[in-house]
Amino acid sequence: MAPTQVLYMEERRGQDPDPCYLREFDARVVERGPDFVVLDRTAFYAEGGGQPDDTGFLRWDGGEAKVLRVQKEKGLVRHFVDRIPAADDVHGVVDWERRYAHMRMHTSQHLMSGLMFRIYGARTVGNQIHADRSRIDFQPANFTPADLERIERECNDVVASAADVRIFEEDRAVVENKIEDRALMDLIPRSIRRLRIIQVGEADYCPCGGTHLKNVREIGAVHILGKRSKGKETDRVEYELRTA
Ligand SMILES: [Zn+2]
Repeated sequence: MAPTQVLYMEERRGQDPDPCYLREFDARVVERGPDFVVLDRTAFYAEGGGQPDDTGFLRWDGGEAKVLRVQKEKGLVRHFVDRIPAADDVHGVVDWERRYAHMRMHTSQHLMSGLMFRIYGARTVGNQIHADRSRIDFQPANFTPADLERIERECNDVVASAADVRIFEEDRAVVENKIEDRALMDLIPRSIRRLRIIQVGEADYCPCGGTHLKNVREIGAVHILGKRSKGKETDRVEYELRTA
């Protein structure tokens, strides 16, 4: 079976809206499992890379199912639903409040990770995004309260600058030359030669498959809640976002 066409990963064409902002779409059911369906195309985000999956609805003539969970397996996106659609043509609707919160958090994560590496040489070794609060693990790191205040300020300076977030494809060799973080590149299978890059102003340049804002001003304000040592020179920084 052909891999699911992932609509938010499509390259933006001309004046078309940013694909990460696509909330509704039409699709065809190509596989029915006991509690899931595979569609030929989707705007639903499948859980991965520290970003939770999307929820929402699939609607068809005379029916509706809740999308409870979304997982990607070997290129196929499985939409776990509370009932299997009776029709082959469905209309998908993403729960936008939840997804948009994840986009704000995820773009903030790039911003903070980029600045932490630039200012303190601390690599991001893990992260988990939630709609209300998120965390990033940094290494090597032993941040003081003053360090965290500085990072929060630097993040919010970039937000205030209203920097654009660019998403584009680049050859792996070019990316490897630009990125100092070898460990990150080693996580990406060698077979992948073209990478989807997320560039957040001057603050971050990083391959990523997630959904992101088009401009950092939509973040509002980054508020660091604190840090916790996770041993071995690793600090876990927790943050939330506020409307500026
Ligand atoms: Zn990302």
